[in-house]
Amino acid sequence: MWFDGANLTKQQSLIMIFALTVSENLTRRFTEILLRLIGLHLPAHVDFPTTVYQLHRDLSLNYGASKTFYCCPEGPAICKGIICESDLELKEPGSKVKVALCNQCGQTFDLKTLSRSNNMFVLFDLKFQIETLLANDNIKQELEFSMKY
Ligand SMILES: [Zn+2]
Repeated sequence: MWFDGANLTKQQSLIMIFALTVSENLTRRFTEILLRLIGLHLPAHVDFPTTVYQLHRDLSLNYGASKTFYCCPEGPAICKGIICESDLELKEPGSKVKVALCNQCGQTFDLKTLSRSNNMFVLFDLKFQIETLLANDNIKQELEFSMKY
């Protein structure tokens, strides 16, 4: 029992929320508002995620298959270049500093500067995550249960 009087397990609750966020394409902001809203309805001692990160962590979602991309800091008005993993190289042999080459405008940028200035985004392989999730028999059963409602 998740807590006294609970009609479902915590895992069932988290799976239903996760399924909703995927099927309705909810933003991170909206998902976190929803989590906080649900949390307000729970007894004070019940632990419940308040962030998307915690939701994914509690569901043991695997981030193994993520890819980081960088955007050319020249900005979309000047350059629409996207810098991917294969465009990164070491500044000089043996150094730990990485530089990124924008194939669009041919300029080279310091990787640290790009991530610090938020010129980056991460793509998660949702198919992989859902497959990992469904490979877990426990979760499969919980999902079947929650689909009945
Ligand atoms: Zn560029």
